[in-house]
Amino acid sequence: MNEIIRSTRVAVAGTSLDPQDWSTFRALAHRMLDEAIDGIAGVRARPVWQPIPDEVRASARAGVPRQPTDLAEVYREFTEHVAPYATGNVHPGFMGWVHGGGTAVGMLAEMLAAGLNANLGGRDHMPIEIERQIVDWMRNLFGFPAGASGIFVTGTSMANLMAVLVARTSALGALARQHGVGNDGALLTAYASKAAHGCISRAMDIAGLGTDALRKIDVDADHRIDVAALRAQIAADREVGFKPFLVTASAGTVDIGAIDDLKAVAALCREEGIWFHVDGAFGALAILSPELAPLLDGIELADSIALDFHKWGQVPYDAGFLLVRDGERHRQAFAQPAAYLQREARGLAAGCVWPCDFGPDLSRGFRALKTWFTLRTFGTDRLGAAIARSCALAKYLEARVLAEPRLELLAPVNLNIVCFRYRADDAVNREIVADVQESGIAAPSSTALDGKFAIRAAIVNHRTDETDIDALVSAVLRFGARRNSERVIEVEAPPLAAQ
Ligand SMILES: *Cc1c(COP(=O)(O)O)cnc(C)c1O
Repeated sequence: MNEIIRSTRVAVAGTSLDPQDWSTFRALAHRMLDEAIDGIAGVRARPVWQPIPDEVRASARAGVPRQPTDLAEVYREFTEHVAPYATGNVHPGFMGWVHGGGTAVGMLAEMLAAGLNANLGGRDHMPIEIERQIVDWMRNLFGFPAGASGIFVTGTSMANLMAVLVARTSALGALARQHGVGNDGALLTAYASKAAHGCISRAMDIAGLGTDALRKIDVDADHRIDVAALRAQIAADREVGFKPFLVTASAGTVDIGAIDDLKAVAALCREEGIWFHVDGAFGALAILSPELAPLLDGIELADSIALDFHKWGQVPYDAGFLLVRDGERHRQAFAQPAAYLQREARGLAAGCVWPCDFGPDLSRGFRALKTWFTLRTFGTDRLGAAIARSCALAKYLEARVLAEPRLELLAPVNLNIVCFRYRADDAVNREIVADVQESGIAAPSSTALDGKFAIRAAIVNHRTDETDIDALVSAVLRFGARRNSERVIEVEAPPLAAQ
């Protein structure tokens, strides 16, 4: 063989990143899998969360790794420095924000997806059919027509943004994508309640319409949008020449889990010719529970729904989703011709419409697989039962709060979120939340309700049970009593590095 060809071959072969010795790799891989399974199976025995020690944090400040490191060593660093200091949402005591617990099944599916390394931007392959299968299931669950489209995205923040963009293009016409939103765009106004998630306002900003163009409508005592006020605001805006184009209703507000009157909002939107979007980040999947589904009446009338499988769906992060009633309008908002993305009638470049026509991403991972495994393995009835159970646990926590004179309930319990406080001032309650988190017993978060600091427990994790609720209540009482008796003078915490 010619010397040049031989040396080139050697050089090329030497660049492969596959293991040199598959059997050593296999043994370590099996150990990793065993330990990952142990991590989930034994999660209850560990603290929910623990603060990151300085030396551990410092370990993540190393320079660019020019030279290779043995996989076993990298894995050791992971087990010592990363895994013990994760968010804690796998733990049944995690009730902060609205985080899903994930499942061991989802973990496996994520691993299998990584093995396929599929790119779901387009082309003709079975992973895309799996994503389409889930679009079809969602269409079915939410009573959407056959022409509806759907797509996996990072999360509901992205899905809400895409809904704003679809509604915007639908209102201004596809030419707006070429010319920009222009003068007409400056007149577009959108509507959501004051309790709506902040990402809706941010979506207005990113879409170039400005946050001022989002009218924040008052809510009633149950945090549901005041539909009469919504109607009045739309009329007032029209009167002075604005063009109302979008109403985003909340199906599960982030602070207390309120669900807007979706039927009434749908009727108003239809009357006014306005796009009706539902932010159903966690609440939309209550559709899986026959007891809870009636709360979502009217969601089937939406023009689009944003939801997260990574919250109540228990799919590992991330797995957001957007469903759009009129698939053609959805496509018109994002599709773009490009020679290097030419579609063909057959071969690998077939399989139109490609997912990249439905959103801003071209390369996309196989989020659908972990969702497909989760839905298939457990079945939607069982997932719905877990959702209903977290609402029952919220009721149990509500009852415990009401029965305890030192605690005060701050908002009605609609779904799975309980807002309460220790009968003391905001500063004490703020300390209690941090104390409970640092104790590793439970992880509530906080919010502000009517100007009052609230301890907020969002029960999402399918592993959570009564003992976790009891542990939270007793921890709050214990730290509350301690903080209240100390009445410590507030001092700014020193920066971490100085501790
Ligand atoms: C979580 C949440 C969002 C944001 O979703 P991400 O998946 O975190 O991007 C939006 N709205 C509501 C009501 C939420 O609960």
